[in-house]
Amino acid sequence: PIYLDHLASTPLDPAVLDAMLPWLSAATAGNPHAAHRAGWRAAEAIEGARAEVAALIGARPGEIVFTSGATEANNLALLGATPGGWPVAVSAVEHRSVLACLPELRRRGHDTALLPVDRRGIVDADRLAHVLAAGPALVSVMAANNEVGSVQPLGDIAALCQRNGALLHVDAVQYLATAVLDVRVLDIALLSLSGHKLYGPPGIGALFLREGLPLTPLLHGGGQQHGRRPGTLPTALCVGLGAACRTARERRAADAARVAALRDRLFHLLAGAIDGLRRNDPGKDALPGCLHVSLPGLDAADLVLGLPDLAISTGAACWEGRGGPSHVLAAMGLAPEEAHGSLRIGLGRFTTEREVERAATLLVRAIRARPAR
Ligand code: PMP
Repeated sequence: PIYLDHLASTPLDPAVLDAMLPWLSAATAGNPHAAHRAGWRAAEAIEGARAEVAALIGARPGEIVFTSGATEANNLALLGATPGGWPVAVSAVEHRSVLACLPELRRRGHDTALLPVDRRGIVDADRLAHVLAAGPALVSVMAANNEVGSVQPLGDIAALCQRNGALLHVDAVQYLATAVLDVRVLDIALLSLSGHKLYGPPGIGALFLREGLPLTPLLHGGGQQHGRRPGTLPTALCVGLGAACRTARERRAADAARVAALRDRLFHLLAGAIDGLRRNDPGKDALPGCLHVSLPGLDAADLVLGLPDLAISTGAACWEGRGGPSHVLAAMGLAPEEAHGSLRIGLGRFTTEREVERAATLLVRAIRARPAR
């Protein structure tokens, strides 16, 4: 099998697994919140991991709240940190875990606005300026999109937010494995990240919450993490996320260059063999590992199903099988017919040149062999 679905989930890095394994053994059993040596050891490991997560984004350890993943982190940010009565503005291409908070925010009396994007999936900064002219708001814009890989002009967006007293939340899930982001430089108030997009384990993520920002927790329980997110912390998962963040810091620059070269090679191989292939990701301005293409008349879902040993997708995994066209492609102005013929290919840290060549061969063969419509 060839795994080219890194935007859906990244494989666990062996170095991360090594860091986690000791914490999965009976010898290290112990509730990290308990008052005995076993508990203290686990707590110490968790605090080390929290510091690694903080270091990846230029935060302080006390500003990191572990969550079950980025879905929870996004929910916690929007539903827990939006000041009472403030409007909320989010880009039209956000992940469902952001967009799905909007009805609940409206129910609570907040105005909500969807910021349109251009053909490349980039947020319209003028529209954001217009929204912010009316007064402060919570703004949620992703660093990079999980379907087409568009990277947002976060510097401009952050500056706009700062000038207008707005709070900026950034879903940085897709961005951190290959790029540098510093919450202090950009004056970001809230940021979400996820283990399984950083070659760490699934089931763990984190919310960065700028020191001093009030937060209403989503969960109520035993007061862990200063009550901001109660629940016994999973030591192995926290350690895994910490190791993944440390590895990302060490590898992101080299990974980005290598993966971008492989991505361009794959596009070159496909475009050279398939007439009419269109590229929807913004190329060099996109996430280095993301290749998003469409072919008029292609039944992409059928193609993907016909190549079960090639892990690629037609769109966001969490939305697959739900029928409707992708809200991201629709917001970018792609016709439903174009969206129908779209493939999302995600290359990553362990992708090899041979895999890229083999994938191109399989795809070209399958596309040429498909029945005429
Ligand atoms: N935001 C983005 C941009 C994502 O790609 C994902 C994962 N598909 C999420 C949020 C949700 O993350 P998790 O799977 O950790 O809940």
